[in-house]
Amino acid sequence: MPDLKSLLDNEFDLFEPIHLAQNLVRISSVSRTRGESDLARYIANYLIDHQIRVEWQEVEEGRANIIAEIDGGRGEGPCLLLNGHLDTVPVGTGWTMPPLGGQVVDNYLYGRGSCDMKGSLAAMMYTAKIVSLFTPNLFGKLKLVFVVDEEQDNLGIKKWIEIWQKNWEPIDFAVVGEPTGLNISLGHRGVAAFRVTIKGKSCHAGIAHRGINAIYIASEILQVIKEKQNEFDQYGDDDIGKPALSVGKIQGGTSPNVVPDLCFFEVDVRTVPGLSLDEIKSLICDSVKKVFEIHNLPSTFEIEQSIPHLPPVKIPRDVPGIDILSRSISDIPGEMPIFAPFPASCEAAFLDQVDIPTVIIGPGRIEEAHTANEFVSITQIVAASRIYSLLALRFLGGE
Ligand SMILES: [Zn+2]
Repeated sequence: MPDLKSLLDNEFDLFEPIHLAQNLVRISSVSRTRGESDLARYIANYLIDHQIRVEWQEVEEGRANIIAEIDGGRGEGPCLLLNGHLDTVPVGTGWTMPPLGGQVVDNYLYGRGSCDMKGSLAAMMYTAKIVSLFTPNLFGKLKLVFVVDEEQDNLGIKKWIEIWQKNWEPIDFAVVGEPTGLNISLGHRGVAAFRVTIKGKSCHAGIAHRGINAIYIASEILQVIKEKQNEFDQYGDDDIGKPALSVGKIQGGTSPNVVPDLCFFEVDVRTVPGLSLDEIKSLICDSVKKVFEIHNLPSTFEIEQSIPHLPPVKIPRDVPGIDILSRSISDIPGEMPIFAPFPASCEAAFLDQVDIPTVIIGPGRIEEAHTANEFVSITQIVAASRIYSLLALRFLGGE
C-alpha cells in the first residue's frame, strides 16, 4: 500500500487552489442571477479538463447544481461527499477593495464570496483533481455537490436530495465547506423565528393615560426575554453551543401624537436537542403574559412562527470519517484538530435530515462572511486543499 500522504506531497501545487479561488471571486455569482451559471460553467470546465465526470443538474430554468464523481479503480468502497454552494450574497456597499477583483494582499484574498465560500470551493475542486490522479489506489467514490440558492431558499440542495433519494446510493461521510476557520464543527443549532404582536389601546397623546401604549408594553417584554437567556445555560454542549434568543426587528405606532395600539417584534431563536421549539415558544409566551400581569391588563397578544424551523444538527464524534479528518489536519504543519460549534446554520442540516453523517469545515471565518471587504486567508485555502485531499485519499484508500 503506497503512503498516500507522500503521494499527495509529490503532486501538491499550493498556487493552484489560490489561483482557482481568485478566479472564482472574479466571477460574480450572486444568488438568483445568471452569475450562478457562469460560475457553474467555470467549475464544470475545470473538472472536465481533468477528465472528471460532471453532471449539470438543472434546479430551475437557467440555474443548475454541478455534480461531479470520481470512481476509485479498485472497485466497491465508501463514498465521500464534498459540498459547497455556488451563490453569494449581493456585493452591498462600504468596500474599499474591488469586490470582484480577486486581489491577494498580505496573505488574504479579498472579494465577495471569498470567505463564503469560494475559497472552500477552490479547495474542493483542487481536491477532485488530486484524487483523479490517484484513482488506481482508491476504492469507492468521491462526489462533489456544488449547489445554487444556498443564500436564499436552499432550492439547490433540496433538488439534489430529491434526485439522490430516487436513485439512492449510500454516502458514508460528507463535508460542508462553510467557513469554520478550519475547526471541525459536528453540527449547529437549529433556527426559527417568532413574530409577537402586542395589542394596546390608542388615544390622543395629550391624554396618554387613557390609552394602553403597546410600544411601552413591548419594551418591557423585551427586557424579560433578554433575561431569559440565563435559563439556557443548562442546555446545549461544547459541540453545538447554547440555545439563544435575539430580538432582531421591532415596529409599532403611526405618529408621535398617537398612543400606539399595536407593536410587533420578531425573535430569532436558536434551538438545540433537548429544548424543543414548543418549549421556547411557551417561554416567550410566559414573558409576554408576565408583563401584562404586572400592569394588571388583559393579555392581548399573538405569537406566530414566522420562518420554518431548520432543526439542529449534531453528529457523534465516533463517526468513522472524523478520525481520518482529525489525522489529516494533524498532518498539516501548523494545524491541529479543534472541535468547535458552527455559530450560524447551513446545509449540513439538510444532509443530516437524510441520515448522511456530515461535518462542517472550511477556510475563513464566519465573521468575514457577508461583510464589506470580505476576505479569506490564502494559507487556510491551501491548508483546506491539503486537508480535503488527504481525507479523500485516506477515506477512499483504506488507510
Ligand atoms: Zn455559506
